[in-house]
Amino acid sequence: MLNILLFGPPGSGKGTQSKRLIQHYNLNHLSTGDILRKEIAEQTPLGRIAQHYIDKGELVPDEVVISMIEELFEDKAIKGFVFDGFPRTVPQAKALDNMLLGRNKTICIMVVLEVDKEELIKRLLNRASIEGRKDDELHIIENRIKVYQNQTAPVLDYYLKQGKAFKVNGMQTEDEVFKDVCYNIDNFSKCL
Ligand code: AMP
Repeated sequence: MLNILLFGPPGSGKGTQSKRLIQHYNLNHLSTGDILRKEIAEQTPLGRIAQHYIDKGELVPDEVVISMIEELFEDKAIKGFVFDGFPRTVPQAKALDNMLLGRNKTICIMVVLEVDKEELIKRLLNRASIEGRKDDELHIIENRIKVYQNQTAPVLDYYLKQGKAFKVNGMQTEDEVFKDVCYNIDNFSKCL
């Protein structure tokens, strides 16, 4: 199984690059943000809990997110995942490692998309005008970046210590970023 963790702040291009990666390597896309937005659209009990946090740019509690993804590993036909927006805290990373370990699998590589704060804000405001996502309003964007720095950035150290994290300049063109991401996967993945 090729399990790729695509990591970076909101607006760093994880969604865009994930779509290309799943085609290139024939993998499944696992975006907790997409799953939560679907739950909200369907007005499920989980969606109602999630909306409360997403609207403020805060993280949905770990236990909610972890229990939500566990069942996705049961499909034996899946060749691997591109994890996009998960794990977002160290407890989530530890839970993911344990879930994979229990199935004799692992995270093969983490690729980190590095983008300046000014550029992130510019991209997210632009996305707001195209997609109309409610959490792409300026004050919520600023909170999401703060939450990333405080709660999510430590996940990078967690995987650096495992020797699995590799950084890519996310300020380049979409094609250049994709090329660099693939280069890292092809050369440094622990699973190939
Ligand atoms: P995203 O589409 O990945 O930017 O996620 C949008 C929002 O969904 C985030 O700002 C969080 O409120 C919530 N969310 C998505 N993934 C997670 C996660 N792994 N843990 C906690 N909250 C999450």
